[in-house]
Amino acid sequence: EIVVAVLIISLVGARLMSKRIVAPINEIDLERPLENDAYAELSPLMLRMEKQRREIRDKMEQLKEQRGEFAAVTENMSEGLMVLDGSAAVLSLNESAAKIFGASPKEAVGGNVLALDRSEELQETVSAALGGEAASACMSKNGRYYELLANPVRKEDEVMGAILLAMDITEKAMAERNRREFTANVSHELKTPLTSISGYAEIMKNGVAREDDMKEFASRIYDEANRLIRLVNDTIKLSQLDEKAALPEMETVDLMTVAKDVEASLGEQAAKLGITLEVNGENCMVKGIHRLVSDMIYNFCENAVKYNKAGGSVSVTVSGGDMPSVTIADTGIGIPKEEQERVFERFYRVDKSHSKETGGTGLGLSIAKHAADVTGAEISMESEPGRGTTVMITFQKA
Ligand code: ADP
Repeated sequence: EIVVAVLIISLVGARLMSKRIVAPINEIDLERPLENDAYAELSPLMLRMEKQRREIRDKMEQLKEQRGEFAAVTENMSEGLMVLDGSAAVLSLNESAAKIFGASPKEAVGGNVLALDRSEELQETVSAALGGEAASACMSKNGRYYELLANPVRKEDEVMGAILLAMDITEKAMAERNRREFTANVSHELKTPLTSISGYAEIMKNGVAREDDMKEFASRIYDEANRLIRLVNDTIKLSQLDEKAALPEMETVDLMTVAKDVEASLGEQAAKLGITLEVNGENCMVKGIHRLVSDMIYNFCENAVKYNKAGGSVSVTVSGGDMPSVTIADTGIGIPKEEQERVFERFYRVDKSHSKETGGTGLGLSIAKHAADVTGAEISMESEPGRGTTVMITFQKA
């Protein structure tokens, strides 16, 4: 009995003692290990803990900073960036990617990337990347064009996922399309005069034409050949304007001198059509490129003469001041409101047959517009069918 009693007492005693010994240890504030004074024996341990705590805090801070930097870079990218796991689920995406695919980041993360877009191009690039091959493709979405680049992400030799980049190439794609269209149009425009030249030449060659007709045919061949030359020259001018690097430096140009030169070279053509052409105003120096300013003024004046009426007039006014300008006013056939923008397009003609009759290429106004863009000039047009057209080109003061 005594043994049992001693046992119980010592058990209870031991429990009480150990509780008392452990109590200060339990009360140690692990957040602030150095502020505890439980036992002197524990202080090396506390020092270690404090050191580790600091290291962990620094590491966390560093990670947060790095994540912040990464987010700042990716969020400010105009390219869409997406990280996918091995099963094509979206791990993360930046704002641009969310915008491109029209999804909120919350919805997109965790879901399959193909839920964002079912296009074949996306499917193929993603599956190629997850198969371990870098891939690229062009994709169109909501009227814009994107270049997709997908790269596999490897750990050791295994593909863990993929990185997908989407770049907006709409402008490039549009320019490409315009170039293709232009080439097709030029070929078509070249074909017509060449076909008639070849036709007349064939008749002359076979000797079936009468002596009287020969002259007529030769003169048609001459006209068509001239049209070809004009077309080729205008095409060269346009491609030089597209190739901005090939242009000369900006210089000071006197508008009055240019206007007088244009008057001199168009005088005969105007007189033949019974149209009076006159230039008024003052000398005026502007910023520009001589050849381009001359092309601009010439093309507007030539149109003012060509699309005029017998007995009509063309009046060119050069005015200086802070906003130097040349105004070309004609009393011609005018341009309907809805076509006033379109006449500046390449090969656009209001009346195709009239333009051809007068030897027009359909490129004159697009050259003028392009030249204005390049030299920082502004073009405004007012026109009323049957009454005439007034064009004002405003230049930058020299
Ligand atoms: P084109 O070689 O046919 O003259 P442009 O580019 O110079 O080509 O002009 C485009 C079209 O705009 C012309 O075909 C013509 O129909 C119209 N146009 C241009 N200028 C005038 C004008 N002053 N009056 C009436 N129509 C004009």
